[in-house]
Amino acid sequence: MNRQRRRKQGSVASGDRFLSKMKLKTGDQIIVLRGKDKGRKGKIQKVFPVERKVLIPGVNIYKKHLKPQGEGKPGGIIDKVFPLPVSSVALICPKCNQLTRVGYQLTKGEKQRICKKCGSVLAAK
Ligand SMILES: [Zn+2]
Repeated sequence: MNRQRRRKQGSVASGDRFLSKMKLKTGDQIIVLRGKDKGRKGKIQKVFPVERKVLIPGVNIYKKHLKPQGEGKPGGIIDKVFPLPVSSVALICPKCNQLTRVGYQLTKGEKQRICKKCGSVLAAK
C-alpha cells in the first residue's frame, strides 16, 4: 500500500516537470517543418504535453475508414486530424513574423515566454 502510493506521487512529480517543458501553447502560430504538410501554417488548437504533440486544425489530415456500426450508423470515410510532434513544427512570432524559438525571461519572479529573435513577450493563453 505504502509503496504503491509513493510510486504514484513520483510519477505525478515527473509529469509536472514534463509539462513545464512544453514551449508551445494553445493559440500559438506555427509553421510545419516536416511531413506531408510541410510549409503550412496554422494555429495550435490543443497541446498534448505527455505525447509532446500539438493539434493544428487542417494540418495532418488522414482519411479514416469506419466500419458500419449497425442500424443508423453506416460506415464510411472521414477526415481525421492527427496531432503533430512538437519537433515537426516551429513557432512564428506574432510580433516580428519570423520563424523563431521560445526563450524565457523572469519578470517579477514570473517566467515569461519570449521570442528569441525580437525579444518580445509571447502571450500565454
Ligand atoms: Zn519576434
